[in-house]
Amino acid sequence: MYADIIVDITNEKLDKIFQYRIPKRLDGRVKVGAEVLVPFGSGNRQTRGYVVGFSGEPGYDPAKIKEILDIPEKSVAIESRLVALAAWMKESYGGTMIQALKTVLPIKRKERERRRQTLVLQCSRAEAEEKLAWYERKNQKARARLLRALIESPRADYSLICGKLQITRPVVRALEEAGLVSLVSDRVYRNPVRPRQAEESCITYTQPQQEAVRRFAEDYGRGLRRTYLVYGVTGSGKTEVYMAMIRKVVETGRQAVMLIPEIALTWQTVLRFQRMFGDRVSILNSRMSAGERYDQMQRAKKGEIDVMIGPRSALFTPFPRLGLIVIDEEHESSYKSEQVPRYHARETAGERARLEGAALVLGSATPSLEAYSRCKKGEYVLLQLPARAGSGALPKVYVEDMRRELRSGNRSILSDRLRTLLTERLDAGQQAMLFLNRRGYAGFISCRACGHVIKCPHCDVSLCAHRGGRLVCHYCGYETAAVRNCPVCGSPHIGGFRAGTQQIEELVRREFPGARVLRMDADTTRTKDGHEKILSAFGDGEADILVGTQMIVKGHDFPNVTLVGILAADMSLYSDDYRSAERTFQLLTQAAGRAGRGAQAGEVVIQTYSPDHYSIETAARQDYEAFYEEEMRYRELMGYPPAAHLLAVLLTGEDEEKLGTAAAYLKEFAARLGASGHLAVIGPASPYVGKVSDVYRKILYLKCGKYGMLVKAKDRMEQYIGLNSGFRDIRVQFDFDPMSIF
Ligand code: ADP
Ligand code: ZN
Ligand code: ZN
Repeated sequence: MYADIIVDITNEKLDKIFQYRIPKRLDGRVKVGAEVLVPFGSGNRQTRGYVVGFSGEPGYDPAKIKEILDIPEKSVAIESRLVALAAWMKESYGGTMIQALKTVLPIKRKERERRRQTLVLQCSRAEAEEKLAWYERKNQKARARLLRALIESPRADYSLICGKLQITRPVVRALEEAGLVSLVSDRVYRNPVRPRQAEESCITYTQPQQEAVRRFAEDYGRGLRRTYLVYGVTGSGKTEVYMAMIRKVVETGRQAVMLIPEIALTWQTVLRFQRMFGDRVSILNSRMSAGERYDQMQRAKKGEIDVMIGPRSALFTPFPRLGLIVIDEEHESSYKSEQVPRYHARETAGERARLEGAALVLGSATPSLEAYSRCKKGEYVLLQLPARAGSGALPKVYVEDMRRELRSGNRSILSDRLRTLLTERLDAGQQAMLFLNRRGYAGFISCRACGHVIKCPHCDVSLCAHRGGRLVCHYCGYETAAVRNCPVCGSPHIGGFRAGTQQIEELVRREFPGARVLRMDADTTRTKDGHEKILSAFGDGEADILVGTQMIVKGHDFPNVTLVGILAADMSLYSDDYRSAERTFQLLTQAAGRAGRGAQAGEVVIQTYSPDHYSIETAARQDYEAFYEEEMRYRELMGYPPAAHLLAVLLTGEDEEKLGTAAAYLKEFAARLGASGHLAVIGPASPYVGKVSDVYRKILYLKCGKYGMLVKAKDRMEQYIGLNSGFRDIRVQFDFDPMSIF
């Protein structure tokens, strides 16, 4: 047996694994994730490394394989726990150890440190003045200038003062040699947030808030580390609860990670945390430079901060004593990574919490079926916040049947009720949000005579009509001119059916000429601060109506919004995906939750062609429990997560025929694996998007009640693929419990 070791993970050698022998005296102590001391390089320099696996065969001349020296006493390195986490991720989600390590240790390369140099006067004022007089007599003007400045302020920023006084390096050196000044260099960290002082909170917690915090604190104080689900309607004060819990943990000298969906990470959120934790808070986000991210990680490691707020990747913040991980909006699909390893932050946080002895708190107004079913089984502790915290009551919801609107002669995108309510709001000087689950100008183009849909020749998805009529592929960017006649039947009745955000914006401007309208979608938020600019403009009352895609429904708090219109609520209902009903319920509930967050009551209009569908009905009643029961029945019947587990196997290749053959063989192999157990194999199918940029795709699904069996099946399939020449030009990717179809 040889140990596979990655030496010095902080530099580029990360990509190479070295084999070492395990000496007898360390038998049983060398485990995956363990930190070890090894001789390295020609000089056999003693170096720290991490065990990432074992191999039976030597990779090169066994005589040249060196031996592990030792396991450092008190090996408490933060990295070694993260390496253990990486090993767990590799095991649970597939991919290589290197890929897993790169995920948990996001700093691949040591970024250049930024340093600040300070000039410090090293002698008494009297001595300095004496020396100054001497320089002046000798007409050494530059030296005199510098010394005079330092007499005035004995510490000065080096580059600043040199620039201002036009001092050169040799002048500074001369003063240094004379023992008058010294140059002190220290590390400066780039800080993404403007430091602020903590403030006294003046909130009185509601009864359910107090109860939630009390239960958590009681467990925590007794050393119990559990997983909690804070299930609270939108605006029930979950964030206040997280902050109170974090404070309890920070008071014991430990740190906390607060995960929130990137899109919800606004300055408002940061400000709330700063009010409680002052400058002991930092953030991570995807817009930060590698250097800024690295600095924040370093600050966390050194114990300069207590709370890190950020999206999925903040989960790997190297805190020395992590005490709590909070995942807000835990149902969000952005918590599942789309890159290998395709980990889910919820499950991975559970493992990190276990390794660190930390607690885990999940929160949502629309919990995932995964989390809620675990509460039902008693695995998670359920903490409920049933009512809004402030004055706001839950909004009144209307479901408008668009089929009936059409029958009664209303061909507009807006139902009569929504139009009436919008007029009322504008008259009252209140704000409204119109939410549409789609981007682009007019959606797809189809023929009303024969049903033909215009598709991308490379990607097999419908093209989207943008302003000016051009048709665009959202996968590969292919563009073509507008069509006037159906290419199949020649009918002129060809066009877009479904409205896009631009079209709604135009319609609203036409119908309500006095209204100020803002639009927020992928097109208007492309610039660096696009999101924030639109949201803060709307928050400041610079517009009456905000039209947008799902990005407008997430977590924003606009007290003056008293009306939310949900257009084409069904659009997410019929996407070809087992989570579509859940996603629809979540979207509708979250969107409805935007209304009436201030003093005035709110109203919500859901426009739909399927008013009887359970996800629309239950969302309209804000009845999560009823939705959960119905949806869980469906998952159980069909064997979908969380009732069972699903492994998606995506095969891609440029040769369609070879791909088809390989997929068929892999299916047969998987079916043989499953013959003995309760493992079902579905497919191979062409996924919804059968071809992207001239690469063909096939997909297999494996279903099984036991996660571990799927992991084993994946390992066996990987071996099979490695040994079979039919897979040479084919890429195979695995995705456990996918959030959506490929
Ligand atoms: P959630 O995270 O559940 O959406 P928040 O914590 O953001 O809820 O709270 C919604 C609003 O209610 C915020 O403006 C918050 O400051 C306020 N709030 C929360 N708890 C209380 C409370 N106990 N008393 C008064 N206002 C509160
Ligand atoms: Zn046609
Ligand atoms: Zn395309």
